[in-house]
Amino acid sequence: MVRHADREVAAKQIYSSISCTTLAPSFNKTIMTNPILPDFITLTKTGLYCAYGNFYLDPQEAVAHAVISHAHGDHAVSGNHYVYCTKATQLFMQHRYKKFAAAQFETKLYQQQFELNGVKISFYPAGHILGSAMVLMEYKGIRYLYTGDYKLERDTTCEPIEFVQADVLITETTFADPSVSHPPAEEEIKKLNQIHNNIMLGAYALGKSQRLISLMSEHCPSKKILVHHSIMPFVHLYENSGVSLGKYQPYDRKIMKQELQGNVYLVPPMVFNSYIRAINVVRVFATGWKHLQQGNGHSLYISDHVDWNGIIQTIEQVKPQEVWTLHGEGKYLKAHFSNQLEVKILN
Ligand SMILES: [Zn+2]
Ligand SMILES: [Zn+2]
Repeated sequence: MVRHADREVAAKQIYSSISCTTLAPSFNKTIMTNPILPDFITLTKTGLYCAYGNFYLDPQEAVAHAVISHAHGDHAVSGNHYVYCTKATQLFMQHRYKKFAAAQFETKLYQQQFELNGVKISFYPAGHILGSAMVLMEYKGIRYLYTGDYKLERDTTCEPIEFVQADVLITETTFADPSVSHPPAEEEIKKLNQIHNNIMLGAYALGKSQRLISLMSEHCPSKKILVHHSIMPFVHLYENSGVSLGKYQPYDRKIMKQELQGNVYLVPPMVFNSYIRAINVVRVFATGWKHLQQGNGHSLYISDHVDWNGIIQTIEQVKPQEVWTLHGEGKYLKAHFSNQLEVKILN
């Protein structure tokens, strides 16, 4: 006991002796702050895993506890037991997977905190598609933010991105290349006004299609928008969730046959690719991939992912001490921040 007390006194003396020197803050920091856990999230063959909370983020195969950022197929698989997600993500997954969507959904509002084995979790809007969420995880005083897919650009069909500060930013880097800059979607969509023949417009059924309907309603008022039947359920789910997309109608073969101008037929990629030699229509595909822009005749360069500037802006807002990267190329970010910021490439 005596020894212990002695030590305490000694420690106090040391502390007071350095407390007014420049050493004091770092001394303070090393004893007060928990470190970032380098293995808090690891990339396994099943997907991103948090061993501390025993859950997966967007697992690639069915697991017991899946925290799902959004309903795109490369993030949301069927057959998980518990799925933690937003309401819109649940509705999209149930439409796609029916009874195999999950044994049990635990839907959460944005910013509604819940806990898995001591890890506090909350969702923030990611601005990617309706219901898309960034996942904030807090554990032992450290905040880890997993972005899922996200974008900063205006999109009236989903919740705008909401930034939150974190110690570790785990970001997708699909387009994290300084040479990638996405043009404004409003300008891209206006290209359709220059095409007078009927158009077959290819786009992903969930998210991109609804954004295109909304953009065309606003910027291409003379076009009649016809929607492929497989896209319609997602359109209805958007509208039932309170998103108004403007004027469109389900596809009707007669209209395209009788009127050879002024129609836009919105189809999913599979249908688009199967009509490679379609006559009397101009084929246009909407994508954020630059290499798909060439040799395709017409294309719309519209992306639902952040470009280089978007990622830099995000880092400025989130103010992380470390950035961990996923999907695509982390090497440009690593070079850009060199010794200013720790950039770790997870994939
Ligand atoms: Zn996505
Ligand atoms: Zn994705």
